[in-house]
Amino acid sequence: PLSLSDMVEARRICVCVRKRPLNNKEVTKNDIDVVSIPGNGTLLLHEPKQKVDLTKYLDNQVFHFDYSFDESSTNDLVYRFTAKPLVQTIFDGGVATCFAYGQTGSGKTHTMGGDFSGKSQNNAKGIYAMAAQDVFALLKQRRYSGLDLCPYVTFFEIYNSKVFDLLNKKAKLRVLEDEKQQVQVVGLQEMYVSCAEDVIKMIEMGSACRTSGQTSANANSSRSHAVLQVILRRRNQVHGKFSLVDLAGNERGIDVRSSDRQTLVETAEINCSLLALKECIRSLGMDSHHIPFRMSKLTQVLRDSFIGENSRTCMIAMVSPGMSSCDSTVNTLRYRYIEN
Ligand code: ADP
Ligand code: MG
Repeated sequence: PLSLSDMVEARRICVCVRKRPLNNKEVTKNDIDVVSIPGNGTLLLHEPKQKVDLTKYLDNQVFHFDYSFDESSTNDLVYRFTAKPLVQTIFDGGVATCFAYGQTGSGKTHTMGGDFSGKSQNNAKGIYAMAAQDVFALLKQRRYSGLDLCPYVTFFEIYNSKVFDLLNKKAKLRVLEDEKQQVQVVGLQEMYVSCAEDVIKMIEMGSACRTSGQTSANANSSRSHAVLQVILRRRNQVHGKFSLVDLAGNERGIDVRSSDRQTLVETAEINCSLLALKECIRSLGMDSHHIPFRMSKLTQVLRDSFIGENSRTCMIAMVSPGMSSCDSTVNTLRYRYIEN
């Protein structure tokens, strides 16, 4: 089996980390920045100068990634090193996947750009929009224009192991698997898009759908995974597929005693699917016949991402800088270590 470094070598998987700036709320609460990015893909977790017991974190203060982005990094820079190289993959007939991972509030949606209804995103294009632009730029190139590739978009959400179509009024969809293990989300709307602006419109529509209905069971978007797919079809067959996944928050420290049943069920579901994701990514480089994709709905619908010569994956781990987030940050930083 290939080790993680072999997979990186084969460029099948790239794991990066992005730190966001301290926000006003953290500054007001005198939260301390305990994360620094010295460069070269490293991240340092500091012992704060104040007298706080952080000894349990001290044994593992340096974390290594393919790339590490500090709080001054723009979405544009992050995109260039993460998702941009994957656009080529889908034109070459492969499956590309980009995951945003981290606790709620760490910057996943900011990075992906999936909150176009929010004011914060008005001037900051995210990975969704930049990837869409690059897809259409490549479609116009002469070497691909002869291939007759047609671009489509799907956008859906996975909440408590159920799939909801964000481009069709949150319709609840079934997932079926045939005897060849091909997985299909039955009835998922696949919208034809003729330009990058069309893709943005779909994202706006889907994001609005995602956050609406605050009282429904499916209200809190941070408790669900959002999957945007750009699919290239050639004579109706899938030629390449790019999945951009804004994962549910992986926060630590949910108090079991004071949480309601729904929160506990959600948390258990999220933990289960993130564990499954880790296992499936692990098998990505192994040419394994056993990919444990049935461990969760998330990995089941993304099954294609974990098989084949032509799969390439990028994981962007987001971290909040504050000491108050330390538990979740350590959890996020450790997730990338795929033990053999
Ligand atoms: P998540 O999706 O992980 O829950 P968000 O993307 O919604 O987190 O980010 C939480 C808040 O922090 C938002 O207001 C967002 O605009 C801001 N934010 C996140 N990352 C950055 C960043 N790199 N630079 C500036 N603001 C950021
Ligand atoms: Mg979010």
